[in-house]
This record gives sequence, C-alpha cells and structure tokens, in this order.
Amino acid sequence: MNFHRLGADIVVGTGFGEDLLEQAPDAFLLLTADGTIAFVNSAAERLFGYDREELLGVQHTILLSEEGHGGFLRVFGRLGRKSPAGSRPFAAVGLHRDGAEVALEITCSLVSVDAGTAMAVAVRDAGHRNDSDSGRRLAVSLLDATLETTSDGIVVVSNEGQITGINDQYLKLWSMPPELIAAEDPTALVRFIANQLADPEYFLQKVAALHADSFMQSHDVLEFTDGRTVELYSRPQKVADQIVGRIWSFRDITSRRRAQDQARRAMDELAEQAGKLKELAFQDPLTGLANRMLFNERAAAALLTPDPVHVLLLDLDDFKEVNDVLGHHAGDEMLVEISRRLQKCVGPHGTVARLGGDEFVVLLVGCRDADTVAQRVVSTLNAPVSIEGTLMRPGLSLGVASRDVGTETSSELLRQADLAMYAAKEAGKNCYVHFRPEMLAALLERTQLTAGLRRAVELGQITVHFQPVISSDRLEVVQFEALARWEWEGELVPPDEFIETAERSGLIREIGAEVLRRSCTELAPWLAEDPVRSVAVNVSGVQLQHRDFAERVLDIAAWSGVDPRQLVLEVTESVFFDAHSHVIGQLETLREAGIRVALDDFGTGYSSLGRLQDLPVDVVKIDKSFVSMLHTGVEKLPILTSMIHMASSLGLKVTAEGIETPAQARYLMDHGCDALQGFLFSRPVPSAGRPQAIRNSAAAIAELEGVSLPG
Ligand code: C2E
Ligand code: CA
Ligand code: CA
Repeated sequence: MNFHRLGADIVVGTGFGEDLLEQAPDAFLLLTADGTIAFVNSAAERLFGYDREELLGVQHTILLSEEGHGGFLRVFGRLGRKSPAGSRPFAAVGLHRDGAEVALEITCSLVSVDAGTAMAVAVRDAGHRNDSDSGRRLAVSLLDATLETTSDGIVVVSNEGQITGINDQYLKLWSMPPELIAAEDPTALVRFIANQLADPEYFLQKVAALHADSFMQSHDVLEFTDGRTVELYSRPQKVADQIVGRIWSFRDITSRRRAQDQARRAMDELAEQAGKLKELAFQDPLTGLANRMLFNERAAAALLTPDPVHVLLLDLDDFKEVNDVLGHHAGDEMLVEISRRLQKCVGPHGTVARLGGDEFVVLLVGCRDADTVAQRVVSTLNAPVSIEGTLMRPGLSLGVASRDVGTETSSELLRQADLAMYAAKEAGKNCYVHFRPEMLAALLERTQLTAGLRRAVELGQITVHFQPVISSDRLEVVQFEALARWEWEGELVPPDEFIETAERSGLIREIGAEVLRRSCTELAPWLAEDPVRSVAVNVSGVQLQHRDFAERVLDIAAWSGVDPRQLVLEVTESVFFDAHSHVIGQLETLREAGIRVALDDFGTGYSSLGRLQDLPVDVVKIDKSFVSMLHTGVEKLPILTSMIHMASSLGLKVTAEGIETPAQARYLMDHGCDALQGFLFSRPVPSAGRPQAIRNSAAAIAELEGVSLPG
C-alpha cells in the first residue's frame, strides 16, 4: 500500500492497513529518520488541532513542548539498539496548535520503509487518565529531556532496579557498550564502573550504602585508574513526594581538577616567591638583619599587644673615620661584627634592625628588664674588635624609649629613642640613656638655637676670646688662639653649645669668617711687633667644603694687614677624610701662601702616628685628654711621649693644650713640647684682657722655673 508520497519515498511495508490506522482511536504518526512527519491519522489531527496538510513534511517537534524536542533521536537510537526501554510507552508533553500543553503517552516502534527506517508513533492523550503511572511517566519524560541537555553522565534506576533514564554522556564516560545497558542489570553496571576506579572498594561500599537508604544523598569524588577524576552526585528520584528510584550523576572534573591543581601550584609558587621577595624587601643586605620596614611592621604589631615594648636605638661613634681611614671594606666588616654581637645580646625574642649607615635599633617585646639588655649591648659592643689587623674599640651611644600610655606609634618611639641617644652622646658616649620628656623640650631649644644663632650672626653678637700660647724656648707668649663666643642676653655662650648647630645649619661659614676678621684686626698691631708671633683660628670641615674658602682667608689676611705666615688654621683630622679632594687642595694653597695648619685635638681620632707624615700640617696640638693623664709628673706615659717624639721627628711643631698644673707644664717641656697652652697660664679672655693674660702667663712661667721635678 502506498502512503502519500513525500520528499523521501516512504512505503510502509508492514501489515498495517491504511484504513485501520485512519480509524484508530489513538493518534498515529510516522516519522522519517530525520524526524519529519510522513503520515498522520485523523485522531492525530484532532489531538493536536492541525489539518493533515499542515503537518506533513514538517518536523515533528512542532507537536512537542520544548523540553521534549531532543527526545526523538534518543528514542530512535534506543529502538535501533533494540533496548527494551525503547519500545515501552513513555510520557511526554505535547503542544496543541492553540499553544496548550497536552499530557501524552507515547509508544514507538521502528518500521522498515523503502527509504530506510522510519518510526511509527502511537500517541494517546494521557490528560484524562488518572492512573498513578501517568505522573511517573511524565516525570521520567521530563528527566529524559534533562538527560539530553546536560553534559553530565546520568543514569536513573527505578526502585525495581530498572534503568529508566540514561544518556550518551554516561555511556561515553565509562566507555560502556550498549549491550551492557540492554542487559538491564544495574549490578553489572556497578561492577563495570568499579573496575575503572582507583579505589573500587570505596565505590562499591558507597553504592551498597545508597541502596540501603533510599533517602540518602551523596557527593563523592572518584579517581579513575587512567588519571581522570569524576564527581558523583546521587540523590533519590521523587515523583509526588514518593521515591521512585535513584539518580546517579557523574561529572568529569579532570580538567577542572587539573586547572585547580595548576592554579594551586602556581599560587604556592607565587606565595613562595612573594615570601622571598618579602624577605629581601625586609632584610638589610649587608648584615642580614631586619631593615627599617620590618622593624616598623613588628613594632606596630607589638604596640597592639598589652606587652611591654622597648626600643633601643644606637649609633656607632666615629664610624665614618673607620670607613675613611681603613676603607669601606673594613667599615662593612665592622658593621657585620656589630650586628653579630647585637643579635647575641638580644636573643631570639628581640628584633635587631639596621636602619642604615651605622644606626641600629633593637625592638624588645615583653621584656621586663630593658636596662639589663641595654647595659649588655653597651659592654658587648664596646669590646675590642680586630678589623683587617687593626684593633679597634667600637664606641656607641644608646637611647632607650619604652612604650608608655602616651606613645602609640612606632615612629614616636623611635623619635624618643633618638633623642635619648643624643643625650647619651652628650653624656660622654659608651652609655645608654632613657628617654625623658624634658628631652623634647631640649630639642625644641636646639631648633630655637639655630634661629637665635642666625640672629646673633646678623646682629654681630659673635665675639672672640683669646687664649695665650707660650713658647717653651722663649718662655713667653708667642701666640693667641681665637675662640668664638656668643654674647647672648648678657651671658657668654661657650662654643661647645653652638658650634655643632652652626655646622649643621651652615652658619659656621659666617661665624668662622667673623672670628677670623675680628682676630686679624684686633691682633694685627701685636703681630706686627714680632714676626715670631702668630694667631691661631679654628676652622671647621664645613667651612673647608666651600671652594672659595682659601681665597676668603687670604682676602681677610690681606685686608687686615696680617702676614699669612703669622696665621695658623686649626683643623681636626676629620677634615682629611672628606670625600671632596679639594679640601686638601685648599689647605695646600693656604700653606703655599705661608699659612700654617695645625692638627687640633691630636690623639683622639683614628689616625695613626704613621699617617701623620702624609698630612699637610705643620703643627700638632696634643689633646688635653692626654695632658690630664699627667698628675704627678713622674708617670710613664709612653703614648704621650711617643706622640711628641714622632711629630718632632717628622719636623712638626708640637703644642700641648689644657695644661692646668705646673707639673704638667714641666713634664711637657722636658719631653720636647714646643708650645704650651692652658688655664695654668691664662683662660681665654676678651681682646681687652690680653695684656693681663700675658702678665698672668709670665707669672706662671716664672713660678714654673722654680719648680723642680722630683727625681
Ligand atoms: P679647642 O680648639 O680644642 O679649644 C680649646 C678649648 O679648650 C677651649 O674651649 C678652651 O677654653 C679650652 N681650654 C683651654 N685651656 C684649658 C685648660 O687648661 N683646661 C680645660 N679644661 N680647658 C681648657 P672653648 O673655647 O670652649 O672651645 C671649645 C671648642 O670649640 C674648641 O676646642 C674648638 O674646637 C671649638 N671652637 C671654638 N671657637 C671656634 C671657632 O671660631 N671656630 C670653630 N670652627 N670652632 C671653634
Ligand atoms: Ca683649637
Ligand atoms: Ca683642641
């Protein structure tokens, strides 16, 4: 019999009679292999509300609600695989021409036609039926729709152990042969799956547990022996609150897992690198100590705790000289040694940081006795150290600040420790000093000092006092040393209280020029009387840094009519370590013009006697600290005597300063000092007091001649 001929020749070669189909109470359709409607009967027309002509040659999907669109191929496939599930009636939601959804019960079977295989579809309106099966069927069909659209591998097994839903992804995931599905044996499926897993036992136990408890939901991660990872979700399948089966859903998360693993590894690596970077960023490269950043971080954290917090700030004294005299390598070695000692003093509970240069800081948290630690630091650091063969004693000044109710930030603590450290320097170094609030007031005073000093320079309040220097040969005053004074509100401020401020602010340039001008003008007549006489003026390194210094000095000498050969400039040895080479050049220019250079405070710095011959100096002034070691005049003071002999043998003149007793004067004269200076002869006096100072000196000398030394 011939059906209506369509694009593809379809001839139903079964025993169906066309009339029989036409008259059947159930709707009947024939679909070609691509899902096109090839035949419909009158019941189908009625059920869906279309005319036959409207349906023929059209995709069958127009008769199904959207969820059912994918079902055709699946059913077709199942029928092709001869799966028993394929020929069972199933529920679906149809779509009436007017848009209304219709509950359907569908039965399919394959038929052979000339063009190949077609599918015969019997459709029954399930809407009026109330049998308990229909809801279940509907649920199953909806599930079917889900199965088609998800990428998870899903299998649904009814309580009776029948597979009621399954999708291709499931088959693919487990490489499952269709025969296994067709066998309808869930235990075989479970075994098949378990065989592919790294831990089959676990899976089998899980399945058994889920079988035993139909309400149970589970989530597991299964590792395949081939390296894949699959997530398993299992939950009961419910229809109208009744559990009708169980849904097993498998999701291949291998790539996600790999990506996660990779991400985690990357994160770990990053964290490691960040840690290293952080370490580097927080570390002082020379000493390996914490740096300022880490110190601040730790201090801030400590201040959040209720524990006692102390900050010990220390600065090496004269470290610059170590660097300059012995070289940077030695300086570095010294810093490393210092940091090693510091860490030993502090132990693991404190943080030792290097703030830069020769400045170190210690943070103590929870320490009840900061004084003991501070004392230990001072004595440990001050022990002699051998750096490149030279034995040295690192000097230091230590300031201690402790957390108080008032201090909230680490920078505040540091500032306080800094002030205390300055106080320690002033207190004579190699000691520690606690911060006290008065120190802040002192700091304020210092700032006011600069402002006041600037005004003093402008108002001409900087004056000069003169102290006589006596020649050992001639036993008379041959020189005056000019010493700056600040006349302030009727008081005389000594230079120790303002020279440092003047150097820091640069005001020393003006002050130095003023002292030189006044000294030259006031002493010019006295100097003119005898070419042996001279005037000595102190010069700071800051002044020498100015390139026109030598020129200015010579200008002033010329302007005041003083012979440069009667002018002595006193410098301390630190000026020779100045990085600016022109400093030495300036001194050489001045010496060429006849001016003499004296090395002041000799013996207090780092320079060895051996270095003396390389320095552009004419005179050394032995520091008063050596002179004060002389009490009786019979002591053996090899350092003092060798200094004098060494300088003399180099052709330098030697002046001893700070002479207060006749015994000291005698001793120094007997050991070859060329000139003597000190309160014994006269204190520094204003210019008008010079004649009196000369008379006092003469009296002291006369008395000296009567002094005979014991032995
Ligand atoms: P200095 O150059 O070593 O000056 C000697 C200091 O020792 C002077 O203190 C002087 O008064 C003091 N002195 C003198 N004889 C004795 C004594 O027998 N016993 C004691 N105990 N002290 C004695 P002064 O005038 O207070 O000066 C202190 C320092 O200030 C000077 O040390 C010098 O380094 C600096 N200074 C003074 N005037 C100037 C200046 O015009 N320019 C620069 N750059 N520095 C200056
Ligand atoms: Ca001096
Ligand atoms: Ca001196």
